[in-house]
Amino acid sequence: MPADTAPQQPDGDALLQVEGLKVHFPVTAGVVLQKRIGSVKAVDDVSFSLRRGETFGLVGESGCGKSTTALAVLRMLEPTAGRIVFEGRDITHLNAVKMRPLRRRIQMVYQDPFSSLNPRMRVRDVIGEPLVVHGLAKDKAAYRARVRELMDLVGLLPHMGEHYPHEFSGGQRQRIGIARALALSPSLVVCDEPVSALDVSIQAQVVNLLMDLQERLGLTYLFIAHDLSVVRHISDRIGVMYLGRVVEIAAGDTLFKAPKHPYTQALLAAVPLPDPELDAARPHDLIAGEVPSARTPPPGCRFHPRCPQAMPRCKVETPPLVERDGSEVACHLYGG
Ligand code: SF4
Repeated sequence: MPADTAPQQPDGDALLQVEGLKVHFPVTAGVVLQKRIGSVKAVDDVSFSLRRGETFGLVGESGCGKSTTALAVLRMLEPTAGRIVFEGRDITHLNAVKMRPLRRRIQMVYQDPFSSLNPRMRVRDVIGEPLVVHGLAKDKAAYRARVRELMDLVGLLPHMGEHYPHEFSGGQRQRIGIARALALSPSLVVCDEPVSALDVSIQAQVVNLLMDLQERLGLTYLFIAHDLSVVRHISDRIGVMYLGRVVEIAAGDTLFKAPKHPYTQALLAAVPLPDPELDAARPHDLIAGEVPSARTPPPGCRFHPRCPQAMPRCKVETPPLVERDGSEVACHLYGG
């Protein structure tokens, strides 16, 4: 078995373990017979784990597979292969009935709070609806008290519960979405680009709120974003994805100070520095060309057609994710 597909050792402290996850979408042709002619390998052999109470950032360009990974973890997409272990239990193929109690423990904060909130419901009911669906409100008084508690947690005033989502700003709507996600007291919250639809001035407030809630409630976050500065601010560890695969995993500071993988180096080079003179003095475009199609990914290292350091073996050998100086990296430069 190649090293990159070998199952990871069980991590006793892990809340979530993702092992060799694949999510492939069939490509079909023909009006009647719908013949399968290929597949889009949106996620292809992805492994990582989340320790209790940490924030694991997942970054990469649009289409790299990070959101598909999140949907598979939430069991909103059926994995093609691999294993998802949550709170010590293999949930990869649990049916809807068996997943139902576990759904309370894994919740999601969406990118666009407006489209994820029912515009016809008052905010108090948007937040309280999961309590009703899961039968967690003993009576009306308990329901109202829990909704008030959730609104207070995210900094919404009690009278705001009587209003409708469209009456709120983007930042307040995201607070409503977060309160709703917390209604069922989850242990894992998947945050899918939770601030990318917000004004820059509001982004920091929402990120700080998420960090504050993590400390108070002991939450674990899988934080997906393309904005590296946001991910750096909130994440304990960061995984970098390229074309359906994880190419590097490192502690946040380590990744930013000493990125190992040429793709991570290129991503970081594109982040503007606060000092305009320093920013102008360094190269920004370390990679050329477009991201190839996930339907026909390049053989060997998927990054080789764009990598400035590619070697002949990169075209034929897939580099496994190996441990180097406390990080994990998938690149032949590091002897994988
Ligand atoms: Fe570049 Fe080769 Fe490393 Fe891939 S394996 S990132 S092509 S040097």
